[in-house]
Amino acid sequence: MLNNIKDDLQLFDELVTLFLEDEIQNPVAEYINPKDVNKVLDITLQESAISKVEYKKILKKLLLKSTKSSSKLFFNQLFGGRHSKAVLGDLLAVILNNSMATYKIAGPQVSIEKEILSKIYSLIGYNNKAGGTFPTGGSMSNFMSLVMARDKVNAIYNKSNKKRLIAYSSENSHYSISKNASFSGIGKENVRYIKSDQYGRICKDNFENQINDDISNGFLPFYLNATAGTTVLCAFDNIEELAPICRKHDIWMHLDGAFGGAVIFSEKYKYLVKGINFTDSFCFNAHKTLGAPISTSLLVVKDKNDLYNSFNNSASYLYQTHDSDFNLGQTSFECGRRNNALKLWTMWKAIGSNGIANIINHEFKLANFARNYVVNNPHYKVFSFENSLAICFNYKNFDPEDLCTKLYENNLLMVGFGQFHANKFIRLVTVNGENSTDNLSNFFQILEEYCERNEANIKKV
Ligand SMILES: *Cc1c(COP(=O)(O)O)cnc(C)c1O
Repeated sequence: MLNNIKDDLQLFDELVTLFLEDEIQNPVAEYINPKDVNKVLDITLQESAISKVEYKKILKKLLLKSTKSSSKLFFNQLFGGRHSKAVLGDLLAVILNNSMATYKIAGPQVSIEKEILSKIYSLIGYNNKAGGTFPTGGSMSNFMSLVMARDKVNAIYNKSNKKRLIAYSSENSHYSISKNASFSGIGKENVRYIKSDQYGRICKDNFENQINDDISNGFLPFYLNATAGTTVLCAFDNIEELAPICRKHDIWMHLDGAFGGAVIFSEKYKYLVKGINFTDSFCFNAHKTLGAPISTSLLVVKDKNDLYNSFNNSASYLYQTHDSDFNLGQTSFECGRRNNALKLWTMWKAIGSNGIANIINHEFKLANFARNYVVNNPHYKVFSFENSLAICFNYKNFDPEDLCTKLYENNLLMVGFGQFHANKFIRLVTVNGENSTDNLSNFFQILEEYCERNEANIKKV
């Protein structure tokens, strides 16, 4: 078979048309036990080329059997749906195949990335000293912030009188915090997970007490990872309360908004990150709440020099023209870096900042709808709070883990479970801006009908 881009884009069009139709007809793909994948699909790679006809057949089947993460019944992850204008941008990025390291390789795409970042600086109240980049995801954004904080504190305090560095985070923070502490040489044992209040937010008094303990033990507190939208409950740490404590102790304050950070676009919901201008760095994932394809993650830093100090290295084989302002590789972790800015730009350009705000507002509307449904129905017990995009609940006395797994294995619904303190529950996330309240009613209807019909087979708690 020939290597022919025109033919293959035609094939792409045909395959995508088929997939999009199937996604409506069968929103949950047929479950395949991982042990059986090779029996159901022709995955094995062989020595010789295959025919065009055979190739198409195999690809069609593979697509139709794959998880449908953009369908109306996918609530399993903190992403869902797809904004067509962002998909368009991502497809163009694949064809352009720039690398965002230098202006020479990426050309005007560099300005696309810079334009988005500069809009974010002004949205959150950073000034023209700010810097930013598009890391591979929220985990990497968190890592980069930790490295910058470490380098900064080492440069100022820790040169001759080495003290053990202590990082702080919420007991509900993302699991990347721990491995990042390991990668950065801080050490997993030097992260303090601060107890949260009943709403899942870092408790200020616990934070202060822990800092004082660490100082009196001769340690050096240097970094806080606060969260805007914790992964399970979607709780927003109180930045205004935490910021003065960080300032007092010279602690770098990072705000992990991978899940909920996009509230900065909404006049109505940006109060959830009030005080964000006090942070030293902030990240959010446009692939979670805004419907951009994975991954679209942004990290911004109050002082661009911190980014440069930690991530720049000279490389004469790479940086041959232009200065560091346009050679984005000097402020990024990666060398060859995918163009993840274009898809956000094609969407933003098309719908404007107001359009992005509308997506966020709509997702909160969906959350409120779901929450009201659960709160007003005596068969449900609710575990989450207002102004959260994660509706955590249990239905009757069904075991959430068993119920979620059965719904999945019976091709009915994709939804996951979570835990907060002693409670385990189903976690319905409203991060798909394409969903309507009818889609959510449908979610509850499918769940309830399955439970009534299979009452005896589902574990109870
Ligand atoms: C999803 C998430 C992350 C990780 O982002 P990835 O892009 O998946 O690496 C980090 N923090 C929070 C709060 C998240 O919800």
